[in-house]
Amino acid sequence: MASVNENFLQLENDYLFSTILNKTNEYKKKNPNKNVISLGVGDVSLPLVPTVIDAMHKAVDEMSKQETFRGYGIVQGYDFLIEKIIEVEYEKRGVKFDKDEIFIASGTKGDLAGVIELLAINNKVAVMDPVYPAYRDTNIMMGRNNIIYLKATEENNFIPSIPNEHVDIIYLCSPNNPTGTVLNKEQLKQWVQYAKDNKAIILYDSVYEIFISDDTIPHSIYEIEGAKEVAIEFRSYSKLAGFTGVRGSFTVVPKELKAFTKDGLPVELNALWRRRQSTKFGAAPYIMQRGAEAVYSEQGQKEIKENIKYYKENAEYMKTELEKIGFIVYGGTNSPYLWVKTPNNMKSWEFFDKLLNECAVVGTPGVGFGECGEGFFRLTAFSSKENTVEAVSRIVKLFA
Ligand SMILES: *Cc1c(COP(=O)(O)O)cnc(C)c1O
Repeated sequence: MASVNENFLQLENDYLFSTILNKTNEYKKKNPNKNVISLGVGDVSLPLVPTVIDAMHKAVDEMSKQETFRGYGIVQGYDFLIEKIIEVEYEKRGVKFDKDEIFIASGTKGDLAGVIELLAINNKVAVMDPVYPAYRDTNIMMGRNNIIYLKATEENNFIPSIPNEHVDIIYLCSPNNPTGTVLNKEQLKQWVQYAKDNKAIILYDSVYEIFISDDTIPHSIYEIEGAKEVAIEFRSYSKLAGFTGVRGSFTVVPKELKAFTKDGLPVELNALWRRRQSTKFGAAPYIMQRGAEAVYSEQGQKEIKENIKYYKENAEYMKTELEKIGFIVYGGTNSPYLWVKTPNNMKSWEFFDKLLNECAVVGTPGVGFGECGEGFFRLTAFSSKENTVEAVSRIVKLFA
């Protein structure tokens, strides 16, 4: 008899996005002539930029000739990409890394699930409420159930304060999905200090850093002194350069970073992560890595920033227009996400139903990200400009 891993039975149903889909499909069936606009999913809509496409075409051609064909890659990732990351993402911000501290992968999601394997099952975890569900669910799948929730509410501007209890693993996401808020230098300093005091590890998800427009907000946790001793950073080309379908990311595991044995002896996580990757991960595709390298060329930077500007203009437009009719809107300035307080104290799902049925607009109920999300609604700036304007005009007509 094959016994099931019962940790999986502890998971809540993946009910948020499936319910959204079911409700949307039902509506479409009943209203076949309505143009339903989705401002719900966290996926990009603009195509890859020309410079990236050219680089990937060239890489495909290399695969067609014996002299330039590449088979299994290097688990860590190719130097040509790692060197660019070190230079553009870090040296420019005053942070130095060696090549063996940057690990190229096929998306942050997999690495978020992977790094927690390096940490013992009885560690206590802190996540925010509301939260990107994968942080919680990947721990539950492993059987790590000791999870506390730090409330992100209007009262604390969606930035929970440092817990007054001990935890071992802390998830921080800045710019935040779903609330669109960012952590400033002072707040990050406090977390780094907390992690040092508690010998804890921060898992820092900054896949939306390219959306930061406020110059005082750090793009990397390593801009904070001492962070290398306590933090792993996750970056992705998904939102940065539209690689959601190509799959490309990198994770930084500094050599200073240690976890501890039962006897309190320090162990370098960098070596463990390399060991884990060489066993479980077959290296990221060469073609993707050539595409990612092109992101860092002068022309590549120019092109991806144009795309980000397009999304940021959508966000700004939504925020401005919704605020004009009296909506309270958080996020949307350093982030592609707007965290909208539902009008008239409606519940998240009530507001969802109203928008769907009366505007044919789909968003994401805040409560789907955690109890503290009740009464909020997430809208994304990733749709086309035309759809964004049309959706907003329908909402304005209904609520003005
Ligand atoms: C989109 C997203 C990711 C990125 O995932 P990939 O696997 O790199 O596509 C990671 N964290 C958050 C919070 C996200 O919204």
